[in-house]
Amino acid sequence: MNRICPRCRKVYSYNLKKCPNGCNEKIRSESNKIYDKYQRENSEFYNSKAWKVLRESCKNKYSGLCLWSLYKHKKVKKGTTAHHIVPVSQDKTKALLLSNLVYVSDEAHREIHKLYELNKLETIKQIKEFIQVYDLEYGGRGI
Ligand SMILES: [Zn+2]
Ligand SMILES: [Zn+2]
Repeated sequence: MNRICPRCRKVYSYNLKKCPNGCNEKIRSESNKIYDKYQRENSEFYNSKAWKVLRESCKNKYSGLCLWSLYKHKKVKKGTTAHHIVPVSQDKTKALLLSNLVYVSDEAHREIHKLYELNKLETIKQIKEFIQVYDLEYGGRGI
């Protein structure tokens, strides 16, 4: 069995797990850079009172837990970041909607942004499914 690297298209053995050209690390540092640049450029938004209040609501909705870790990896893990499901750069009107936010850990956040680069629509669909399950299971009552 072989894998194809989504970044450099190299075909490598399934047993290797990672592209031998070091693409996993490159994708990670690239998406971190993009994210940092994005945060800087939107610092006015991320420093606004409205955003800070909303971020707290998001944290409370998910009881401070990482939703992605909970359903994707079946692990209970603390969250640290409110992630915009549809990025603000794509749709500013969704920037301050609680329904467009999900609470995630740093690690999950990196994973999500990496997946966005590979298949954004599919990843968004999955996050929304997790939220639906969470709402059904806990109905805003918290864990
Ligand atoms: Zn590669
Ligand atoms: Zn994010």
